[in-house]
Amino acid sequence: MASKLSPVWNKVTPLQVTHGQGSWVFTTEGAEYLDYSAGIAVVSTGHAHPKVVEAISKQAGRFIHAQANCYTHDLLEPLAERLDGITPSAIDSFFYSNSGAEITEASVKLAKHATGRPNTIVFAGSFHGRTHMAMAMTASKTIYRAQYGPLPGGVYVAPFPDLVGVPADQHDAVIDQALHMFDYLLKSQTAPEETAACIMEPVQGEGGYIPAPARFIQGIVERCNKHGIMFVADEVQCGFGRTGKMFAIDHFGIQPDIMCMAKGIASGFPFSALGARADLMAKWIPGSHGGTYGGNAMGCAAALATIDILTAPGFMDHVVARGEQLREGMESIARDHGGIDDIRGLGLMIGVQFSDPARVAAIVKHALEESRVILMSCGTWGNVIRFMPPLVTTADEIEIAIGAIRAGMKATA
Ligand code: PLP
Repeated sequence: MASKLSPVWNKVTPLQVTHGQGSWVFTTEGAEYLDYSAGIAVVSTGHAHPKVVEAISKQAGRFIHAQANCYTHDLLEPLAERLDGITPSAIDSFFYSNSGAEITEASVKLAKHATGRPNTIVFAGSFHGRTHMAMAMTASKTIYRAQYGPLPGGVYVAPFPDLVGVPADQHDAVIDQALHMFDYLLKSQTAPEETAACIMEPVQGEGGYIPAPARFIQGIVERCNKHGIMFVADEVQCGFGRTGKMFAIDHFGIQPDIMCMAKGIASGFPFSALGARADLMAKWIPGSHGGTYGGNAMGCAAALATIDILTAPGFMDHVVARGEQLREGMESIARDHGGIDDIRGLGLMIGVQFSDPARVAAIVKHALEESRVILMSCGTWGNVIRFMPPLVTTADEIEIAIGAIRAGMKATA
């Protein structure tokens, strides 16, 4: 029977699944697969974490939807309090929405109101979502934008330093050049007094799992502060413990003006949050932004339960330890086999870059078919295998994933 589903979903696997548990998903045919896609870096607490299931179930009997304009339900403020406790100290006011793209769009709308300026700077390799403004802000692959023009204007793309293959003693020069090109953009295309926001993923996601070099992100924030440009950290993929700290930006000792949060925030319940300095939020004209479902009661319950799990003693140590185990496994494979150009990342957000994108596709396929491990690629050239397992993944599961890559390397040698 022909499928009634739109073909627009680019399918990673042909699997038909019935349920998930922890790091595993189960198919209609009774097979189990290690799900290292984690719903594209979403189910950080694993599938169906009992605390999240309990929180959502309990909430479903109270309110499924308590619309945030119509009234203030009793989880909106407690969640803002919790977010205030885990986000950088500059961030102390919160708005809620449903997805990553909606929240990156919201970040730019807030920055425009707060500054009275029209333009936005993004970086080469960025991914900020698939709505029209988010597409215009996305510069990681042409497929995300092709045949959708015209896209909104006022978006300028600055270079993001690529250090792969560059000798260590030349890294500073590459970073300085990228900072220089940012200054050049402000002189040649969008003047500071016309630039509302500069949005960056502290670890690029779809663009290749590339952490921003510390000197680069620090240099950009310095420039934003100097010119009154709102620095927006897009933590949609790299936030909520993914990098071994609550937020990727915590690795760099900098303060954003605005933060975008989604994916891991609610363990899979569609939910996103915008955090900003309260003085900026105060400039957002009431009624000028909103949305029917933002602040959904079930989403708030899921987010509160998720934050409880991520902030439990020892949780981040577990993420760091599993990340080290995975990285060491990949380094050992790279020593034994040719074809790997770079292994990088923070915590459990690790990218393994290959010289040949076709080999990435072949290894991902081999892992699925022969080892029953679900992996995904990323990068502009599709040349990176990305690891974004559930953060609750065990040492044994990491070994299964390492074994799958080793087998794939042998099979594709
Ligand atoms: N920003 C980043 C960094 C992302 O990785 C994504 C999705 O992958 C988005 C924004 C868009 O999120 P969503 O797919 O929930 O709209």
